[in-house]
Order: sequence, then structure tokens, then C-alpha cells
Amino acid sequence: MIKRYNALGDYFKNQYGKKMVKLAIDAGFTCPNRDGTLASSGCIFCSEKGSGEFAGVVGENCDPNHTYSIHSQIESQKKLLADKWKSTGYIAYFQNFTNTYANVDVLSKLYDEALAFDGIEGLAIATRPDCLDDEKIELLKKYRQNGVLWVELGLQSIHEKSMNWLKTHYTLDQFHQTFMRLKSADIPVVVHLIVGLPDETHDDFIASVEYISNLKPFGVKLHMLNVLKDTALEQDYINRCFDLLDLEDYIEWVTDAIEVLDESIVIHRMTGDGAHDAVIAPMWIKNKRSVLNGIEKNLARRNVSQGSKKL
Ligand code: SF4
Repeated sequence: MIKRYNALGDYFKNQYGKKMVKLAIDAGFTCPNRDGTLASSGCIFCSEKGSGEFAGVVGENCDPNHTYSIHSQIESQKKLLADKWKSTGYIAYFQNFTNTYANVDVLSKLYDEALAFDGIEGLAIATRPDCLDDEKIELLKKYRQNGVLWVELGLQSIHEKSMNWLKTHYTLDQFHQTFMRLKSADIPVVVHLIVGLPDETHDDFIASVEYISNLKPFGVKLHMLNVLKDTALEQDYINRCFDLLDLEDYIEWVTDAIEVLDESIVIHRMTGDGAHDAVIAPMWIKNKRSVLNGIEKNLARRNVSQGSKKL
């Protein structure tokens, strides 16, 4: 079968000669958009777990309100995966909240704790563009020199009206400046983008994709706007009853995005993985396989591949 996009699994195999699995970690951070520094309600879609539904779980009977040690989180996830995949490398994915929101001594202690665990070959660090000063970038540079490292930034959209609605409390300019500083420090960046924001047209969405394509980050994650329980988005969705993309439209929009994305960019995700019991809408996102198959079939039907329509 022709591979029509630059998938993360293929990138890992080519780069490291094996499968690499990310282990999601809740390191007990908060976020300036949640702790009252910028705001207390967070981004509109942010859940109580700081957009990391699967991290921090160390077994069936774990207390969801407790932050377990990094060691126990890694150990329990590795145990679960050990039978499924042999000879796998692992990446510690600091996912929940803002994983550079502390001083560099605290950060290096936490990152070192993860890297000390047998089999952990690198770090993926999710954060905000306004939480990466020069000192933190210097620190990340050192980890980058010693192994796998990338930073994940949630841009979501380039449009001010959407960023305001999302309540991210950072601007496109802040994102751009931080992205450029990371790029000059040779730190790979994965950019998150939401597909199907309520007041965006297809052209608005493609303009965000073009912007990212021109930046040529290491990777991109595309997500449908998921309405999850107990988020501010849930209330807005109930009040306004705005339309969400249906599965067919989502597949068309993501296919259009892949055609526009520069072929060098690694696609880390083409659909989200919200915790199933927390999803309010759209329900079709629960069937991840059918979304992925739909996108792959659509690329084949159009006979196009990543970057074939780069503008
Ligand atoms: S930046 Fe991340 S952790 Fe902070 S409020 Fe937004 S989604 Fe939540």
C-alpha cells in the first residue's frame, strides 16, 4: 500500500529502527491559565486533568485525585505494554497541564526522574508558548543533546477570534516568537491544531494549516473539537448548540490539510483519543480506527499525498 503521509510510527522505525511508545505522565504541574495567574477557568476545552485524560493512572484501583510518582506511572504503563510489544523504546510524555511551569531545578529533577527509568529513551514535553523563557530553553537544549526530545505547543488556530473563544490567553505572536526561539535552539516542536472550531470556515482552517506548513515544525497533531464532560466547552455547547463537523466532513478537512502540509512534517495524530466515558460530542470520535481508515481511503480515492497541494 502506498504510504501517503509522514506517520509518526514510520518516522520512529526509520530513525530508531524500532517501535517507540509514549508513556503519558502527570507530573503534578498546574498552568498559569488555571491557577489564577492569567485566568482560573483554563482553555475552554481543558478538563480537570489538564488535557491529559490517560496520564497518572497506575492501576484499576488508583485514586484519580492523587498524583502518583513518575516512577510508578512509568512502571505501571510499561507493565501493561510489555506483553503487547517486545523490543520497544519508550518516551516519557509529560502531558498534563504545563510541563515547564516551574523553575529549572524542579524541571530537571522531574525530567531526570523519568529518564532514569530503564527503557526511557527520551522526553516529549507539552507546554504553553508563554512558559518557555531562555533559561528553560537552555535546559531543554541539554536534554536534546543527550537523546530524543521534543516540545508540544497547542496553537489550535491562528485566528484571533478563535483564540479568544478558546481562552488560551496567549497570542499568535507569542506562539511565533517562542517557536522561532525553539527552532534556533534546534529543539523539535509539535504543534497542535483543532479541526472544526465553531466560528471557523474551511478556509480559516486551511489558513492555519498553511501557516504551520510554512513554519515546518517537526510534527503536527490534528484534533477534532471534542466536547468533554465537566469542561467550560460543555456548557457553551449546551447553551449555543453550535454545529460540530460530522465524520465525513472531518475526513474531508483532514485530507485537505494533509495535502497542504509540507511533506517533511511528521503527523503525530490525525484524530484525538478522548476518554470514552467523558465524551459528550461528537460520538464518532470514539471509533478512532474508522476515522483513520476514512482518511487513508480518502487520500487514496483522491490519489494525493502529504504536501501534494502545498501552496
Ligand atoms: S494551556 Fe493546557 S493545561 Fe493550561 S488551561 Fe490550556 S489546555 Fe489546560
